[in-house]
Amino acid sequence: MISWRHVIWLGFLILALALESCSWPTEASTNGFRQLEQDAPERGSRPVRNPNPSPTPLPSPTAVPSPTPRPTPTLSPQAWAARLRLAMPVVGAHVPEWLDLVPGASREYRSGVHEGVDFGFDAVGVTVRTGTRVVAAGDGVVVRADSDYREPSSKEMGEILGRSQKLGNTTEADLDRLRGRQVWIDHGEGVVTRYAHLNSMAPGIAPGVRVSRGQLIAYVGNSGVPAEGAGDEPHLHFEIRMGDGYLGQGFPPAKARELYVQAMSGRN
Ligand SMILES: [Zn+2]
Repeated sequence: MISWRHVIWLGFLILALALESCSWPTEASTNGFRQLEQDAPERGSRPVRNPNPSPTPLPSPTAVPSPTPRPTPTLSPQAWAARLRLAMPVVGAHVPEWLDLVPGASREYRSGVHEGVDFGFDAVGVTVRTGTRVVAAGDGVVVRADSDYREPSSKEMGEILGRSQKLGNTTEADLDRLRGRQVWIDHGEGVVTRYAHLNSMAPGIAPGVRVSRGQLIAYVGNSGVPAEGAGDEPHLHFEIRMGDGYLGQGFPPAKARELYVQAMSGRN
């Protein structure tokens, strides 16, 4: 006979079995779930959007380019000539009318072309001799002053001229020797004036020194001038350099002269 004590025991047994069948997930089973979650995207399921996408790396800041040097304004030689307003490097002189003394004139002794204006030879309105004062044609900074100048020996001069004849041109190094003792003044914007064949320099003239228009910088001589030929006479060889070339480059002497008359219309 079933007592109701048996019923209670049976109830407990059923309850225990029921609890066993729906037990909490074990450690192994939870690992299994995690594995499924991780594997899911690889099985072709809907791509899981990354809830915390790493921020797209910003482009590294672009380095600010250093300012490129301001190019010298592109002007025609005529425009430059009108703008320069330089003074005469020999007070009271004018640009010579003799076209052999201006840029573009032939210099057969060195198979080259004249790149400046010669102040001398009784052609510039004033007497120019050894020791005549040379002044700055404009405000600027001295960038070259040959304080340790050495005159070419007759042997070196012969080699320079022989080389020029052979080449049919004068190298830049040889041309520099033929200009003798020099002072160069930088006026900015790529404009440099050169004063050549000097006898000596005025006191205090050295690279880095600022000079003003009309200031005494040197004295006329005939350094670097070959001993033979008509050029062997004290004079100032004066150049207006513009960038890599010179004012009047490529022009016939008469046209070049016009440019220099205009460019040197400033007052001392
Ligand atoms: Zn000259």
